[in-house]
Amino acid sequence: MVIGVPSEIKTNESRLGMTPAGVLELHKRNHSVYIQSGAGLGSGFSDKDHIKAGAQILEKIEAVYQIAEMIVRVKKPIEWEYDLVKKDQIVCTYFHLASSEKLTKAMFASGAVCVAYETVEDDDGVLPLLAPMSEVAGRLPIQQGAKYLEKPVKGRGVLLGGVPGVAPGRVLVLGAGVVGIQAAKMASGLGAHVTIMDINMKRLRYVNDVMPSHVVTEFSNELNVRKHIQTHNLIIGGVLLKGAKAPNVITRDMLKTMRPGTVIVGVAVDQGGCVETTRPTTHEDPIYIIDDVVHYSVANMPGAVPYTSTVALTNVTLPFVIQLVDLGWKVACDRDPHLALGLNIVDGKLVYEEINQAFGWD
Ligand code: NAD
Repeated sequence: MVIGVPSEIKTNESRLGMTPAGVLELHKRNHSVYIQSGAGLGSGFSDKDHIKAGAQILEKIEAVYQIAEMIVRVKKPIEWEYDLVKKDQIVCTYFHLASSEKLTKAMFASGAVCVAYETVEDDDGVLPLLAPMSEVAGRLPIQQGAKYLEKPVKGRGVLLGGVPGVAPGRVLVLGAGVVGIQAAKMASGLGAHVTIMDINMKRLRYVNDVMPSHVVTEFSNELNVRKHIQTHNLIIGGVLLKGAKAPNVITRDMLKTMRPGTVIVGVAVDQGGCVETTRPTTHEDPIYIIDDVVHYSVANMPGAVPYTSTVALTNVTLPFVIQLVDLGWKVACDRDPHLALGLNIVDGKLVYEEINQAFGWD
């Protein structure tokens, strides 16, 4: 099969759909991979790296879409790309169709087969192609939070690991899911005292089993939250209610009870945030301050580390991509029910029921 990997053109998106390691695996199976020139530069891969792995380079995005039977990318196509998508072309990406009726209708019109990374599920209902980005978005907030705790950027002036004779910083993690556990792990690795809260006892039991003793679990309720926000220096918001807006675990009035210079990293910003005062920010202008509390809530945190994010993404997407190119989408989806859940649009029709519901089309 002929696979095309276009450059990501969304502002500040430096990831790409396939690393040279992925190209090599497809090349070994006698598939042809065409990469748009310069597509890998943001993630640290040159055209030469891709050529060495067996890819061919095309200058223009139009040529990539024109030649490819399958497109592999990261973000959903933006408006001016809609017309480039061809009938029967397989397009694999994070589509998030439920958030855009316009994109959904454009993909109907294209006649393409749309495979959305975010709806592929494993046996436990876990989303294996979303997990690596949550892992990145769980580890990054500690790096960012440690930086914004420094005084010159309005933080409290606390070193997370402390020093001999001075107690370490205190990190409060809301949510013990993928993001929360990665955050707790990184913070504890730096030597910080960590409190992690959830409403799910199974998650808390797991954390209690696997984490060192300076990571303490607490059930998440208003009383406990009000108590802990007064004494913790860095707060990570990683709460998720599947398919719903995140609840306001920290409300506006609570900010006044926190110490000046406390830092909140709102990772759940894409679902509205679990702190009432969270609003999306960008890598260029990542923070704002309310009641002396520093808020960091960049909506695409993994975009800050495109090398790690691209490699982590290709590691998990490649096995599915290989099935699709070796077998064709029909046979591959018949054989693998997990991959089949990624099918969102076929023959100009939605085949993923929840998207119908999101648009009120039933
Ligand atoms: P997850 O489902 O693995 O974990 C969420 C946890 O929140 C669950 O354990 C759940 O029980 C818990 N929870 C629910 N209500 C709670 C409450 N009131 N108090 C405490 N805990 C509560 O989700 P995840 O993969 O860890 O993702 C967390 C959030 O991070 C999501 O909104 C996700 O979209 C977001 N995210 C953001 C970025 C970014 O760049 N900003 C990147 C990846 C993920």
